[in-house]
Amino acid sequence: MLGDDRKRRFRLPVLLPYPFAGPFDYLLPADADSCDLGPGDVVLVPLNGRPEIGVVWDGEPDSGLATSRLKPISGRIDTMPVAAPMRRLIDWIAAYTLAPPGIVLAMALRVTRPDAMPRMGWLPADTLPAVRITPGRARVLATLANHRRPISGAQLARLAGVTAGMVRGMADAGFLIPVRLPFATPFRAPDPDHPGPQLSADQAAAAASLCQAVAEKKFSVTLLDGVTGSGKTEVYLEAIAECLRAGRQALVLLPEIALSSQWLDRFEARFGVAPGVWHSDLSSRLRKITWQAVAEGTAHVVVGARSALFLPFPDLGLIVIDEEHETAFKQEEGVVYNARDMAVVRARLESAPAVLVSATPSLETVANVEAGRYARLLLPSRHAGASLPTVSAIDLRQHPPARGKFLSPPLIAAIHDTLERGEQAMLFLNRRGYAPLTLCRGCGHRMECPNCTAWLVEHRARRILQCHHCGHTLPIPETCPSCGAAHSLTPVGPGVERITEEAALLFPTARRLVMASDTVPGPHAAAAAAKSIADREIDIIIGTQIVAKGWHFPHLTLVGVVDADLGLGGGDLRAAERTVQLLHQVAGRAGRAEAPGHVLLQTFSPEHPVMQALVAGDLDTFMAREAALRRPGHWPPFGRLAAVIVSAERPEQAEKLARELGRAAPAGDGMEVLGPAPAPLAILRGRHRHRLLLKTRRDVAVQPILREWISRVKVPHGARVDVDVDPVSFL
Ligand code: ADP
Ligand code: ZN
Repeated sequence: MLGDDRKRRFRLPVLLPYPFAGPFDYLLPADADSCDLGPGDVVLVPLNGRPEIGVVWDGEPDSGLATSRLKPISGRIDTMPVAAPMRRLIDWIAAYTLAPPGIVLAMALRVTRPDAMPRMGWLPADTLPAVRITPGRARVLATLANHRRPISGAQLARLAGVTAGMVRGMADAGFLIPVRLPFATPFRAPDPDHPGPQLSADQAAAAASLCQAVAEKKFSVTLLDGVTGSGKTEVYLEAIAECLRAGRQALVLLPEIALSSQWLDRFEARFGVAPGVWHSDLSSRLRKITWQAVAEGTAHVVVGARSALFLPFPDLGLIVIDEEHETAFKQEEGVVYNARDMAVVRARLESAPAVLVSATPSLETVANVEAGRYARLLLPSRHAGASLPTVSAIDLRQHPPARGKFLSPPLIAAIHDTLERGEQAMLFLNRRGYAPLTLCRGCGHRMECPNCTAWLVEHRARRILQCHHCGHTLPIPETCPSCGAAHSLTPVGPGVERITEEAALLFPTARRLVMASDTVPGPHAAAAAAKSIADREIDIIIGTQIVAKGWHFPHLTLVGVVDADLGLGGGDLRAAERTVQLLHQVAGRAGRAEAPGHVLLQTFSPEHPVMQALVAGDLDTFMAREAALRRPGHWPPFGRLAAVIVSAERPEQAEKLARELGRAAPAGDGMEVLGPAPAPLAILRGRHRHRLLLKTRRDVAVQPILREWISRVKVPHGARVDVDVDPVSFL
């Protein structure tokens, strides 16, 4: 028997990017220089006879398996090790979300791609092999001699006029030795002392607090809470400046990076250079370069989407989460995690401050402030004396739109006046396409998705019907597929396309722009759209929630919300909170410069607390009321929720498994299981779905309960059980 200590020296736990329960043990390779392999090293190991990338993990190897059955590590990959805080973050996310740690690692590795790093080049070997030197080989050696620096294979072949194959052959024959090419970062250092705006007294006080948090170099969380247009961005840019002065890196998470062109312009105006940008649409070349620059510390500031959380900052001094209330921070596919919350975890692991920014903070964050866990800084008024827009409700019962139309007379009149004054108007409707439902006038047939419990949405410009859940698409039929009647299919209800059509009839000379994720695909289109609005080439903007995000359009003075009640239906715990946040954000686009802004909410229930809060501009009272509603029942944030979603291809199978889970439900003090019940989206992508909800008091940890619970049922082939801790979607 080997002693534990010696055993550890011979075997190491390696985490593989697969859904195993934990790391596997491998033996140390025989060659000596690998003996200093340690946690974080990226290695190649055999898995089922194939080489696989893994990461040496922490902790004790699992001594359950006989050494004779273990395979040796094949070797180390020459790339940055996965640093300790990142390994802890991966462990933490896995433990919190119940995702297998290897799957969280896979997600992090997709960000880092260790196999693609680093770039290698060639130098001549000190002693040349005793092999004939052909003229081609001589040219290669001469090129290297002239250059006196390592050259990449491709460049060497080009300069010497030989094939890449010849260069590789010379390497194999021992003429050349590989060396890591120095990395030329494309990022210039932001200048923290580049002249910025003169901050107001409120702004300066908030900035000073944030700068102090940065200077302390320890974990803290601060909510930067300020009305729309109060200069929150300018304030946290000062904290970034402080972080840069300390020589450390900063990460800014934005919910929708594709919509950040104005943010990037402001960053550049403040620091003289552009920041690093990180999102899933980045080209693979830029992705590698940015990753490397982050790892080497030459990308000083990165602004990114959720996945930027997994970038290998060696010296992270600040994390900013802008629009912290946004549900876009929740990843719903694969590893189901909330990037806002995990950003706070990373800040803690890195001993760095986190700053949460919002004009409409989530109740979770407000509760954390009230409990003293988070600090709060307040910017109570708009910059430069710009006033907050006036908000009023239009009661659609008293002011109905014309038959088959959706804009009420008071809203039409307001648009008219706005255009008359040469100002811009925005119509907001959070629904893409032309109409959310297509109905046969003859037989009442509704066009539904064959794979989902959902109506097909008409996109008239593209002449299609589309499911917004699975993407299923078909051409708009000529005849009703049920009764065969011709020309009987009728659109019901509006989407932004239909509102645009109405606006075109009412204001034929006004220049219109539709902003929705399908009409403004990607960062370039969004930047172009924003520019045309800012340059006053547009009179009326018709948009979905993408128009709500942080834009600053100085000439926009009227915002009309076409259907303020839209988000209030359904059984969603946060429906009211989210509607207030979204509509307040949209409203905040109006009147950001000298001319005052007006917001009109079309609603059937102007007496609803959501409308009242928006009209009164009193979100604090609204949030206090929300809190009072949720506190007694231990609803979040005063209790914990975890959703368990059962799905299967066959309906009986899903139902049976859901019932079994229901019977096996945990019971005890401070916990309760709701369901099973068919999910609101009862069929999604052809899978039948049922939901259960575990609700506990705040002081109960849900993970061990969930683990134990799910282990009590056998999940048959074809069925799945997915867990969503802290669900934001209840579909
Ligand atoms: P918020 O993020 O709170 O919505 P912003 O930071 O976007 O507010 O500020 C709104 C507008 O006012 C922006 O155009 C910003 O550049 C400008 N602004 C804010 N503070 C100042 C300041 N101190 N000096 C000059 N311009 C400012
Ligand atoms: Zn579908």
